[in-house]
Amino acid sequence: MYDLLIKGGRVLDPALGLNADLDVAITDGLVASVAADIPETEALRSIRVPGKTVVPGLIDFHVHVYEAVNPRGLNPDSAGVRAGVTTVVDAGSAGPFNFGGFPKYVLPYCKTEVVCFMHVGRHGLVSLPEIRGPEDIDADEAIKIAAQYKGQIHGLKVRMVNPALENMGMDLARIAKDIGRQTGLPLMVHIGDPHAKVGQKSVLTELLDILDEGDILTHLFTSHHGGVLDANGKLYPQVKAAVERGVLFDTGHGRFNFSFDVGQRLLDQGMAPDCASTDLTIPGREVVHSMVETLTRFMALGFTLEQTIEMATIKPARAMNADDRLGTLKPGHQGDVTVLDIQQGKWKVIDSDGQSQTVEQAMIPFVTVKRGEVITPDWGPRPWGWLPDPVD
Ligand SMILES: [Zn+2]
Repeated sequence: MYDLLIKGGRVLDPALGLNADLDVAITDGLVASVAADIPETEALRSIRVPGKTVVPGLIDFHVHVYEAVNPRGLNPDSAGVRAGVTTVVDAGSAGPFNFGGFPKYVLPYCKTEVVCFMHVGRHGLVSLPEIRGPEDIDADEAIKIAAQYKGQIHGLKVRMVNPALENMGMDLARIAKDIGRQTGLPLMVHIGDPHAKVGQKSVLTELLDILDEGDILTHLFTSHHGGVLDANGKLYPQVKAAVERGVLFDTGHGRFNFSFDVGQRLLDQGMAPDCASTDLTIPGREVVHSMVETLTRFMALGFTLEQTIEMATIKPARAMNADDRLGTLKPGHQGDVTVLDIQQGKWKVIDSDGQSQTVEQAMIPFVTVKRGEVITPDWGPRPWGWLPDPVD
């Protein structure tokens, strides 16, 4: 007898190459079967989702959920299960001097799985700028805390922005990378600085040279200083070299760093991101974007639904070394499922530079299942719902 049956939907699982009318059965928090016409009599509970799209639980690779400690941090479930997302990566909200509060006060109280990347700056993103100079990084403490919370800290984070960049230059990335080497953790690096000084030299190419396989560059689509395109809109050759080395590329929409123009230029030059993510911060600012809204924007750029879901399931699962249990509905994997309502229509989506595109498909989260538990998404992290503005 299965615990749960998700019946009658269209299963789309890029990792398995599946796009077919199938049912998904879950037992003991794990996927037990994906097959056609599993009888409802074989499950204790069944939910019928005809017309809906059933995908592996969505993974948002870049959010900020150190609620109440980081003033921009959301409740993890608001970014997560209540928005159709089963796993999120907290991208450096906490640093070594305040990481301990995460497992003590946040992680036990949410249903969403939170994978923590620790900032190399002393106090994470509690106050900005988080790093002004070398005095704001304590490498010994970072290494100690990474060891103390081994298994709970999955990576490190640093932001290549002023004033740290101006004061430290590439030492900022080198110190962070050195902590990464000593702890065995991958490094996530933020690029894109809206506050760069006129004439300030970009360190992007030097930065890429120090990143190794498994390190992550976030804000790939930024139009701000330090991005991956040169002054003529051409991709720096070091980017392709980094891709070949196994460096991963996240998008992290956020308030400033998702440009349709940059995205289109990258796609035209054969460069696509590994992960589609939100860089979600607290509601109340008009520019926060839920995961489904972010994914809808990728479809506006011409990504197919399959490609979009791949960047929110198996690819981020691989990037966090968790593809043995997340990112696919393969039996034996964690029973994390997102049921999406893919609507057809005509909407206007806007990037963080204020440029718009028209999109004819949009996503609404319909049901979230986390380790077999059914959770109904609510109104999302924004108060006005999931869909973009309609085009008249
Ligand atoms: Zn961020």
